[in-house]
Amino acid sequence: MQEVEIHNSIFESYITENEIDSSIGKVAEAINVEYQDQHVVFIAVLNGSFMFCADLLKKITISCTVSFVKMQSYEGQQTTGKVNELIGLTEDLKGVDVVIVEDIVDTGNTLVKLHELLNHKSVNSIKTATLLYKPEAYKKNLPIDFVGIEIPNEFVLGYGLDYDGLGRNLSKIYKLKKQ
Ligand code: 5GP
Repeated sequence: MQEVEIHNSIFESYITENEIDSSIGKVAEAINVEYQDQHVVFIAVLNGSFMFCADLLKKITISCTVSFVKMQSYEGQQTTGKVNELIGLTEDLKGVDVVIVEDIVDTGNTLVKLHELLNHKSVNSIKTATLLYKPEAYKKNLPIDFVGIEIPNEFVLGYGLDYDGLGRNLSKIYKLKKQ
């Protein structure tokens, strides 16, 4: 599909399945090298990162476990600036090396909130892997350690990312078409 229409907005094809797959391969390889002979706890941020997390973990060869946290900062096509934790982390993470798995890093508000939560749990280290990164929108100082694809400050959907809940099932990534 070259275009999709959701809630009267038109989205055009932007990042193909092949591009997504090869960028995930690069992220996985970097993590496998960085944490060689170590154990990592992946914390995936729901809902958007479920597809990325599944495909990323299939390419991870080091010892690992995965856990999920549900956060929300977007309503429609806008960030609200406030991050809500909807499903929390219940397990003991003391002393573990964490890799946060994000679908997209935009303002960085979600990442800051997650760092706060994880630091309260006395983890040993925190790094971040994200499929998409909007450097122009990012307003924080935390490093983004493993980036799949950098994109301009535009609203995208597909491959787990939604517009008001819709579009997560699309296998490639679309961006809002300028009228
Ligand atoms: P941040 O807290 O970094 O501003 O935003 C992170 C969250 O906002 C992402 O996990 C994602 O759910 C949502 N988000 C940010 N940019 C976009 C976008 O372009 N499209 C969609 N669908 N969600 C986005």
